Amino acid sequence: MSSIQLKNIVKKYGDGFPAVNDVSLDIADGEFMILVGPSGCGKSTLLRMVVGLEDITSGDLEINGTRVNDLAPRDRNLAMVFQNYALYPHLTVFENIAFPLRLNKGKVSDDEIQRKVREASKMLELDEHLERKPGNLSGGQRQRVAMGRAIVRDADAFLFDEPLSNLDAKLRGQMRTEIARMQRRLGITTIYVTHDQTEAMTLGDRVAVLKKGVLQQCASPRELYEQPANLFVAGFIGSPPMNFVPARVEGTTLRLPFATVPMTEQLARDVAGKDIVIVGIRPEYIKDAEVNPVPGGATFKAVVDQTEWLGNEQYAYIPFEQDPAAKQHLDALEKDLDGEGARSQLVVNLDARSQIFEGDEV
Ligand code: ATP
Repeated sequence: MSSIQLKNIVKKYGDGFPAVNDVSLDIADGEFMILVGPSGCGKSTLLRMVVGLEDITSGDLEINGTRVNDLAPRDRNLAMVFQNYALYPHLTVFENIAFPLRLNKGKVSDDEIQRKVREASKMLELDEHLERKPGNLSGGQRQRVAMGRAIVRDADAFLFDEPLSNLDAKLRGQMRTEIARMQRRLGITTIYVTHDQTEAMTLGDRVAVLKKGVLQQCASPRELYEQPANLFVAGFIGSPPMNFVPARVEGTTLRLPFATVPMTEQLARDVAGKDIVIVGIRPEYIKDAEVNPVPGGATFKAVVDQTEWLGNEQYAYIPFEQDPAAKQHLDALEKDLDGEGARSQLVVNLDARSQIFEGDEV
């Protein structure tokens, strides 16, 4: 078991733009930490530096308080679980799990190997499949064999790099549950890379959101959702994504393109001195006023452009006219939002959970 500290970690390939830029993270013993962000944000590079497959340009990497920047990967005692699980098809489950111990020939006795493999396979509920070959296992079982290998080595931490990205949606869901269950059961410190925000939100004790090599926020899934640190995190976390609507500040009211709403005192203080702000509204806070009236909520009339029915929920898309100056302001932000523009839904419920972002915050 171990804690992992990243202190001001920087990675530069050649003399280009840093792929990882001054990232600091404190991963506690037994914690499940997710690294998430869009393609190219540096999450794999960060993981590869932790495991030792990539040099660290500057900063310190510590495991249990000891600096390990210069340790070879095999001396870091971390177990990388690869996307294809890297199992040997000709070996049984037992031999696949025992593999790292056999590599240490002479150091681990046969009795010890038997004991460790049986112990690990029991924990992973693989004890009935020890004589099978990987080809005869389900995806979930294969994943567990790969984890078993890490367990018999007494690895300090599991590192996963997008382990589910090649699977179809249903299997992905099953495997996600499986990984979460096993990690909680084993209590092994885990770092898990994904670009999928659903995976990030469901698996992580904490989630570190990266953009262009820079850590944007590291927090629990709930905190990321309810208190995103900036526009990028707000737009990245949540599906369907948060609406961003430009609004004019007019004294103690906000003029949205479709409604004028009073602000709370706190909100009025936050936006004092601003002319235009971006209001973030989660889609679930916009309701059909006829079906679901919100006391105190602002209402507006709208024409639904398109709907998507998903069985348990329905998304409605509603175009709205934009104040030209506000639109210009928002367009200028688009590049920082990775293409996420303004969206609008049925009825706006600007309650405490709706959020105001200053345009110049990103
Ligand atoms: P993805 O989800 O697409 O795998 P990622 O977030 O894991 O992306 P990285 O693979 O860490 O991103 O890459 C971060 C940045 O570093 C990218 O701009 C990438 O092009 C660059 N990069 C990665 N590996 C190398 C390398 N070996 N040499 C030069 N640049 C690299």
